[in-house]
Amino acid sequence: MEINLISDTVTRPTEGMMKAMMQAKVGDDVFKQDPTVNELEELVAEVFGMEAALFFPSGTMANQTAIKLLTQPGDELIADHYAHIYNYEGGGVSFNSGVSCRLITGDRGKITASQVEANINPPDFYHSPLTTLVSLENTTNKGGGACYDMDEILAIKNVCDQHGLKYHLDGARLWNALIAKNQHPKQYGAVFDTISVCLSKGLGAPVGSVLISSKENIQKAIRVRKIFGGGMRQAGYLAAAGIYALEHHIERLSEDHRRAKELETVLKTLPWVAKVEPVETNIVIFSLQQGIEDANFMQLLKQKNILISSLGKSKLRIVTHLDYKQVMHEYVLEVMQKLEIPGFN
Ligand SMILES: *Cc1c(COP(=O)(O)O)cnc(C)c1O
Repeated sequence: MEINLISDTVTRPTEGMMKAMMQAKVGDDVFKQDPTVNELEELVAEVFGMEAALFFPSGTMANQTAIKLLTQPGDELIADHYAHIYNYEGGGVSFNSGVSCRLITGDRGKITASQVEANINPPDFYHSPLTTLVSLENTTNKGGGACYDMDEILAIKNVCDQHGLKYHLDGARLWNALIAKNQHPKQYGAVFDTISVCLSKGLGAPVGSVLISSKENIQKAIRVRKIFGGGMRQAGYLAAAGIYALEHHIERLSEDHRRAKELETVLKTLPWVAKVEPVETNIVIFSLQQGIEDANFMQLLKQKNILISSLGKSKLRIVTHLDYKQVMHEYVLEVMQKLEIPGFN
């Protein structure tokens, strides 16, 4: 048995989810005739209290579409330097939208209203790019699953309104933030121009993200998705997994959070661990004492059938998820506590 803690994207559909997929009514979604995709889009729009939503094959495509909708070539957007849209979307911001990124060094991927305000280029100074968009990430991926306080999100919204900036949320793991902070999706729907959410991370669907916005924006988003090559035909089989996930897999995220917290607690006691970043959701980032190679350590765990990942710069990452069960968790905690690292026990 292999325990894969590389990401919450490694999950496979549960039996119930598979059944829902097999029973899905489908049609051609490129003609908007897939009833299950339509149902998913209406459901997600409703959950966020926004007008409309659109199903995407990936979170990357949903984010890139939002950025395309909200900017013009030559513009600049503001984001944290850890942002997924900047680091892990293949340079899509410049490739797809001709937009530059003004990167802020925030706190574990989170930026503040005053940082945003200080990084807006004066609009009448035509030598610099025009700032038109602020993009937040919640929870932060590279920031170790940290989540925003609603007060900060609203303060940044205020700055956006004062300066006529659009406001996007990369909410790939927003579900985790909602559970951890006890927030409601409608609080987010009321604030952002566009929100992307993933169904294929903590929620455990095999494929899919949703972009949520106004009717007008989503109408434009259909064309952008087409241009990006994202039109899918009988996508209802995938949408059915998403609907099932929304109905069954949100509340249980608290289990992933508890297990991540327990891993944090144990790691902190171990002599070979140098630092564990504070755990807020389902991501644990830690580093090893000097003299231990990350690659060797990961190999050691691999021999015990535990897979984890490296973020580079001596940061290791564990992500808990739907397929990481209690028995596996207890085994991992035990392995960590018994691990012999020469010179550090
Ligand atoms: C995973 C992720 C995405 C989207 O990734 P895809 O693999 O394209 O679905 C976007 N933003 C963040 C923060 C993510 O963690």
